[in-house]
Amino acid sequence: MRAVVYKGKDKVAVEEVSDPKIEMPTDAIVKVTTAAICGSDLHMYEDRSSAKPGCVFGHENMGVVEEIGPGVTSIKKGDRVVLPFNIACGFCFNCTRGYTSACLTMNPKVAGAGYGYADMGPYRGGQAEYLRVPYVDFNALKLPGTPGDQHEDDFVLLADIFPTGWHAAVLAGVKSGDSVGIFGAGPVGLLAAHSCFLMGAAEVYLVDRAPDRLQRAQKIGAVPIDFSKGDPVKQIKEHRKSNKQLQEALREGEREKLTGVNCAIDAVGYQAQSGQDPKKEDPMQTIKWATQVLNPTGGLGLIGVYFPGDPGGPDEKAKQGIYEVPLGELWTKGISIGQGQAPVKKYNAYLRDLIIAGRAKPDFIVSHRLPLSEAPHAYEQFDKRGVDGGEAWTKVLLKPELDRASKAA
Ligand SMILES: [Zn+2]
Ligand SMILES: [Zn+2]
Repeated sequence: MRAVVYKGKDKVAVEEVSDPKIEMPTDAIVKVTTAAICGSDLHMYEDRSSAKPGCVFGHENMGVVEEIGPGVTSIKKGDRVVLPFNIACGFCFNCTRGYTSACLTMNPKVAGAGYGYADMGPYRGGQAEYLRVPYVDFNALKLPGTPGDQHEDDFVLLADIFPTGWHAAVLAGVKSGDSVGIFGAGPVGLLAAHSCFLMGAAEVYLVDRAPDRLQRAQKIGAVPIDFSKGDPVKQIKEHRKSNKQLQEALREGEREKLTGVNCAIDAVGYQAQSGQDPKKEDPMQTIKWATQVLNPTGGLGLIGVYFPGDPGGPDEKAKQGIYEVPLGELWTKGISIGQGQAPVKKYNAYLRDLIIAGRAKPDFIVSHRLPLSEAPHAYEQFDKRGVDGGEAWTKVLLKPELDRASKAA
C-alpha cells in the first residue's frame, strides 16, 4: 500500500510500504477514506520531536473495516468507523477510569499510545491506504451513513481535534455564561471555540494573527483578536470595557477586578511566536498572556503540545522541556490549571451525536481536501500555516479515495 513516510527535517514522501496485517485476534484492518494532517504532525515534520525517518504519519483516521481478527465481536467488515488518536486497551487502571490518553499497556515506554506519532508506541499512522487498529471493539467509534457523505469531513474530526477542542474547554473549566479567551485559532482553537459555544459560553475571544483563521473565528461568533496589532490582553480588556451593559451590571470593586476573562485556553503550545518579534519563538508567550488576561479564580487549559524534549528549543532548558512559568501570579489569582492530551473516547460518541443532530458542524475549519499523493505539497504549505500573506491552509484532509478514483479514470 501507499503511505506518507517521514524522510527527515521538512520532508515527507508518499511511498510503497508493506500492507498492515492482523497481528492480534482483536485487531482490525481499516481501509482509510479520510486522514487529516494535524498541526501536531508539523512538530515532527520540522524535526522538533523524537520522530525518526521512516515513521508513517497520521493519527486522525477514519474509514471502513476491511478485515477483522477472530477475537473481534462487535465490529463487522463494512462498518464505517472513526478511530480516536489514542490507542487504548480498555482494561488497564487508567482506561477503566476513562483516561484512555494514558493507557498503561499499549506503549512500552510511557503511558499513552497513538498512531504514527513520536514516543507514542510502535504503531503506524493512517495517512495511508490501510491502517491496523488494535482492540478495535474498544477503540472504534461506529458511524452512520456511507463514505463521502455530507458528514465525512465532520466525522474525521472526531479522531482528534473536535474532542481535543472540547477537552480544552473542560480543562479550562468552561461553564454556561463564562467568558473565554483562546490563544491560537488553528483547528484546535477554533473547535475549542465551537465547543465553548455548545457549552453555553457567553463570550469567546480568539487570538491569532493569520487573517483567514480570524475570519473563521468571527464566522462562528467569536471575537477575533489580532495580536500583530498590539497586546492581545489589552485588546480583550478594552473590548470588555467598551461593553456598556456589562460594565453597568458590575459593582464597584468588581469593575476594576473583573477586567479579563474567567477561562483561558492555550491552543498553541511550545512553538509559540513571541509577541514582540513574530520571527522568534517564546515557548511561554501564550501562558504569559493567558495568565494576565484571567480573572481571579479563573481556569487555564493547556491543550497545545509541550514535549519533554525539543531538539530545536530556543535555549538549553527549553531543549529539555523546562520553562519559566509565571507561577506567582497564577497562584495568587488562584487559577486552576488543567493540561494534557484529550481522552478522546470520553467525548467522541456525544460529539458524534451532536453532529448527527445538526447541532455541531466542525468541518467549518477544513480548508483543503486532497489525494494522498499530494501529501508532500500539503505538508509544505500547511507548515507555513497560512500566515505572511500566503494561501490559508487551516486544515488539510487527505483522501486515498481520490487517488483510487483518479487511477480508475
Ligand atoms: Zn491531531
Ligand atoms: Zn489501557
